[in-house]
Amino acid sequence: MQDQLLGVAAAGKPGTGDDFGDAITGGRVLCHVEGLSPIQPLGKADCAVYDGRMVFRSNMSLALDEAREAAARGEVPVGAVVVSADGTVVAAAGNRTRELNDPTAHAEILAIRDACAILGVERLTQHDLYVTLEPCPMCAGAIANARIRRLYFGARDAKSGGVAHGARVFAHPQCHHVPEVYDGVSAAEAEQLLVDFFAAKRGENS
Ligand SMILES: [Zn+2]
Repeated sequence: MQDQLLGVAAAGKPGTGDDFGDAITGGRVLCHVEGLSPIQPLGKADCAVYDGRMVFRSNMSLALDEAREAAARGEVPVGAVVVSADGTVVAAAGNRTRELNDPTAHAEILAIRDACAILGVERLTQHDLYVTLEPCPMCAGAIANARIRRLYFGARDAKSGGVAHGARVFAHPQCHHVPEVYDGVSAAEAEQLLVDFFAAKRGENS
């Protein structure tokens, strides 16, 4: 399946980071979480020539596929993908807390574990993580420990998120490693999956 191509110009000067969407000139899709790492120009591996212009190549569509598969298993629909610096997808996972009877089996944790096992490393330096929902504090901690280079997440999670909300793990002085953080990637789609999932659950229970 093809990577999702977002119509965002990849060239141009990064902005100040004060406003959503100025991570990339002309971009609406990527948002930088204020107070976190400074905005860097995207690397070559993140970009592709499409229709004669450079565009940001997102792997969020794969994470969304994982989220859909999680929903089909009766798990909260969240999916995550680990991608290497050259754009290779190393690991992909969806939530499996119910199936594994494991409260730590969040998509991000499973994808990070798989990627480390596949590569035979304990840190994923130069790797990026795409996840459909703002990571919780546990996953944000794992992302910092794994030394993930860039975190792209979809929907924000005011209730359980730990990046832009709550513990704001990466903004904490104790955090050893702060990835570049971009949110709002395919956010509407990620959010709709969650809304539909919980609406169906409520339907079952009524
Ligand atoms: Zn989590």
